[in-house]
Amino acid sequence: MDGIERFRVYIGFNISRVNNIKGDIIMNCWFCGNEESVKNKEYKVKMFGDVSKDTDGAGGESVSFSRKTVTVPRCSSCKAKQSKAKVLTILSAFFLLGAILFGLFEIFNILQVISPWLRGFLFGLCLMLAIGIYLRKLLLMKGVKTQNNAKRNYPEIKELIAVGYEYGAAPKQKSEPKKVVTEVEDDVIN
Ligand SMILES: [Zn+2]
Repeated sequence: MDGIERFRVYIGFNISRVNNIKGDIIMNCWFCGNEESVKNKEYKVKMFGDVSKDTDGAGGESVSFSRKTVTVPRCSSCKAKQSKAKVLTILSAFFLLGAILFGLFEIFNILQVISPWLRGFLFGLCLMLAIGIYLRKLLLMKGVKTQNNAKRNYPEIKELIAVGYEYGAAPKQKSEPKKVVTEVEDDVIN
């Protein structure tokens, strides 16, 4: 390795490091705990709190609140796995629903025009796919915490929940047209 090449490797190494640095600290992915967190792959959770409502006497209501976006460090691999797991969960639920439907068809004597063999086969196929896909998802997510887990257990989120913050971008509004939302703060926690 000549000098230039060594320099290039050094620079390359440092660039990849710099991408993952947050305030001089290299963050590890919170979901697997092994890989370094990658910029733009983080899991972001919007939260709001300090909600106060005011009426202006003319039937109008204004709501003010603070908003914070918590960034949970995440690596590329965990982000990809979580996206894939979401698809597998939906697929699994879809086939489970199919199995339940075919089961109900039997109970209520629907679809009797189709041969019993075929009805049994379709029921079994749906059930097996539902279970198989679900197991595949569990295997994929082995050692990777879920996003719901982060929402419950990531320290910054827990702290915000403790002081009355809720998930979401804004408080739910009942009488929509009359309300004016004043955003006090849009603070991104890093
Ligand atoms: Zn990870």
